Amino acid sequence: MQFEHNTLKEDYNKCIAKHKSQEVIRPNEKEQIKVILDLIEFPIFIKDNDHKITLANSAFFDIFCMEEECVIGKTLVETVPQKESEHFLKVDRGVLETGISDQQEEELTVKGFSHTILTRKSRFLDNSGNRFLVGYIQDITNRKKAEKILQESFKEIADYKFALDESAIITITDENGIIKTVNDNFCKISQYTREELVGNTHRLINSKFHSKAFFKEMWDTIISGKVWRGLIKNVKKNGEYYWLDSTIVPFVGVNKSPYQYLAIRFDSTDYKNVIDNIARAKNLHSSLFDNSAIGLYQTTPKGEILSANNAIIKMLKFDSLEDLLQRDLKTGSYVNENKRIEFETIIQERGKITDFESEWYTKNGDIITILEEATATKNTKGEIVRYDGSLQDITFKKKIQNELIEAIKKVEESKKLLNETGKIGKVGGWEFNIDTLKQIWTEETYLIHEVDFDFDPNVENGINFYTSASKPIIDKAIKRAIEFGESFDLYLEIITAKNNLRNVHAIGKADIENRRIYGFFQDITLQEQVKKELIKAKEMAQENDKLKSAFLANMSHEIRTPMNGILGFSELLKNPKLSGEQHQNYIQIIEKSGKRMLNIINDIVDISKIEAGLMKMDIKESNINEQIEYIYTFFKPEVKAKGMQLFIKNTLPKKEASIKTDREKLFAILTNLVKNAIKYSNKGSIEFGYVKKGDCLEFFVKDTGIGISRDRQEAIFERFIQAEIEDEMARQGAGLGLSITKAYVEMLGGNIWVKSEEGIGSIFYFTLPYNVESSKRNNLKKIEEKGNTENQVKNLKILIAEDDEISEMLLSVNVSEFSNEIINVRTGTEAIEACNNNPDLDLILMDIQMPSLDGYEATRQIRKFNKDVIIIAQTAFGLTGDREKSLDVGCNDYITKPIKKDELDSLIKKYFNK
Ligand code: ADP
Repeated sequence: MQFEHNTLKEDYNKCIAKHKSQEVIRPNEKEQIKVILDLIEFPIFIKDNDHKITLANSAFFDIFCMEEECVIGKTLVETVPQKESEHFLKVDRGVLETGISDQQEEELTVKGFSHTILTRKSRFLDNSGNRFLVGYIQDITNRKKAEKILQESFKEIADYKFALDESAIITITDENGIIKTVNDNFCKISQYTREELVGNTHRLINSKFHSKAFFKEMWDTIISGKVWRGLIKNVKKNGEYYWLDSTIVPFVGVNKSPYQYLAIRFDSTDYKNVIDNIARAKNLHSSLFDNSAIGLYQTTPKGEILSANNAIIKMLKFDSLEDLLQRDLKTGSYVNENKRIEFETIIQERGKITDFESEWYTKNGDIITILEEATATKNTKGEIVRYDGSLQDITFKKKIQNELIEAIKKVEESKKLLNETGKIGKVGGWEFNIDTLKQIWTEETYLIHEVDFDFDPNVENGINFYTSASKPIIDKAIKRAIEFGESFDLYLEIITAKNNLRNVHAIGKADIENRRIYGFFQDITLQEQVKKELIKAKEMAQENDKLKSAFLANMSHEIRTPMNGILGFSELLKNPKLSGEQHQNYIQIIEKSGKRMLNIINDIVDISKIEAGLMKMDIKESNINEQIEYIYTFFKPEVKAKGMQLFIKNTLPKKEASIKTDREKLFAILTNLVKNAIKYSNKGSIEFGYVKKGDCLEFFVKDTGIGISRDRQEAIFERFIQAEIEDEMARQGAGLGLSITKAYVEMLGGNIWVKSEEGIGSIFYFTLPYNVESSKRNNLKKIEEKGNTENQVKNLKILIAEDDEISEMLLSVNVSEFSNEIINVRTGTEAIEACNNNPDLDLILMDIQMPSLDGYEATRQIRKFNKDVIIIAQTAFGLTGDREKSLDVGCNDYITKPIKKDELDSLIKKYFNK
């Protein structure tokens, strides 16, 4: 269109020029011109000097949308906006006045529509010299729009080009690949200058990475006119590689073959690296998946296997993945179906499951323990579509774990056992580290030290428990154990936290390799005590043995001596030539020897009874003043005979001097002590008596005799002990008197002790409880009184039942002064018979031990027919039981063998002196 306009314009200009040269339009020609003008398609007008339109073609009327009549002879002021009309008038005036043609683009608004118009205006003069303005208008509104669009497009392209140039690496090559143009980016990345690149081919930057086939494919594509895209590895000038994401666009010429190639490229080194990394990661992933020792799987929620790695196949003992896919649910799955339910419940609730332990069957039916972890993958709707999980065969681990647990349990049990047995045996264990010197103790070791279990033991505070005597020993032993690996086995003493002394047995062993010393620690306090006591007992037994031997030797001497006297002088008595004095002398010796022997036998019997626990008490009221007086009377002659004096000291009035005690034992105590005082004194005096001290009576027997050395003062109270074995006088006793005395004192609730000084004398003290009884009755007194009376008993008919002839003879002699008729029998039966035959019998002296029928039975029988006859039992052993038994069967009294004449006399007098 535009080109056509241009052609018309040219034609028109020529026409104008022609008219201009004529300078005048003839009036007849006006119509012709009008016709011609109407043929022209763009507006043409003629204005007069007053700007009124005188002539215009129809295109002119069209552009202004007006009829001819409304335009001719008028200015355009009414048609166009004021601003535009003023402009037009101004331009018109300029042309009319100057005659200089004007051409310019102007804006024309007609009925609200804007047009861009190109107007050209010229002046011509008619013949009269009137000025006219001829102009034409070209509506270039569309052209302008197109121009604007074109301009914008160009700008856009320029922008793109700029952007591309800035961001991309651009080259243009000719059809042969010779580089024609490069942008800065390409120079920069390739490190070549533009000059080096232009005129060269891309071989300059070829990295030799790609195959020939690769480039062939590229060339084939672009030569055929298609765009090629791909990643190309290139090399920089400095040898470094870089990747270009390249798009090669062929520019195809009219002959349909490319005449040049535009290559637009981006640096993709990073991208390529990422791709490579992804590829590598993918490789790694698949390699891991295949080679992992952990079983990896993907399954549907129903448990259908989507993928499983080799480890799973191996773990569940399948041959291949295909084999696994065909698994029977009995194999290669949970042993316990509930486990599967549990697995699903957890994974559905939490989206994942960890540390899920369960037992699985392998293909061959073995059971293995599996540790499973899995994650659920959901689709966009939130439904679980897949489980990704891992399986680990922990059967072996589990076994080891169980064995370990068992082992730990056993260790714990052993530890418990060790602690328990340690407790029983009082044996503790200990161990310390050579480097840290920190100690470990077992429970019992804490208990032995009497410390709380929170006590923190180490070598130093452990050693501090030892006594000052033991400390250097253990210290040295530990040092040697550390230095030389020496073991130790020591018996030592510790002082516990509660200040108790304990004997301990400490054994230590060094284990240098493991930097430790360990051992056991035993409380042997009890054993040590027992040991000490055993040693003491053994020493005592040895001592006793020695004493017994001494005693036996002594006894045999003691018995032999009087026996010798008796037998020797009895022999001498047989000599008829003896004088009366000699006769009496020998008889006295025999009597003395007999008494001495009797004393010894009595002592032996008493101590035996004490030791056998057979010595019984007979507690009765007894007046001690009377007893003391009696003893005084008894021993006075003997003391006097030794040229010494005897005193007594009764401190309580007689009526207050009655106590409840065993009269005979008190008598024996006092007698023994007084006898000893006489025996071991040769001069001075003997005094005995008592004083009241608190609840006790303190008795004493004091002499001025030989005294007792300090170191023997305790021992003399023991059996068979004599103060001085060498002592002449001491030899005349069995060493039993004081031990019997002591036993009696203690039985009566008192104590005995001695104060003595050698060469000065001794005082024996003993106490008895003072329990007063205000009774006037006193048997002893009666006996004493009776003893003092004249013997009025005579002419008794006496039966002596005694199987031993000597004893019978002795009895017969002893009772002869009271009797005019003595009947002798040897057995119990004979005794009954004799009694039966002699109803007038006064007294029977009944031996208890007789053949055929003993004294008890005989008495019992006799009592059946004779209740009056006085029966006195003779008991051989003097046992209390015998006495009671004899009284029980009907005897009136008893007398202990060997029978002493005065005792027998007293008894007879007791019953017949009325
Ligand atoms: P015995 O007198 O039969 O040897 P005892 O048991 O009565 O036995 O006495 C033990 C020892 O005590 C005596 O052997 C004697 O050495 C010593 N002894 C006892 N009483 C006295 C005393 N009054 N004076 C000196 N020594 C005494």
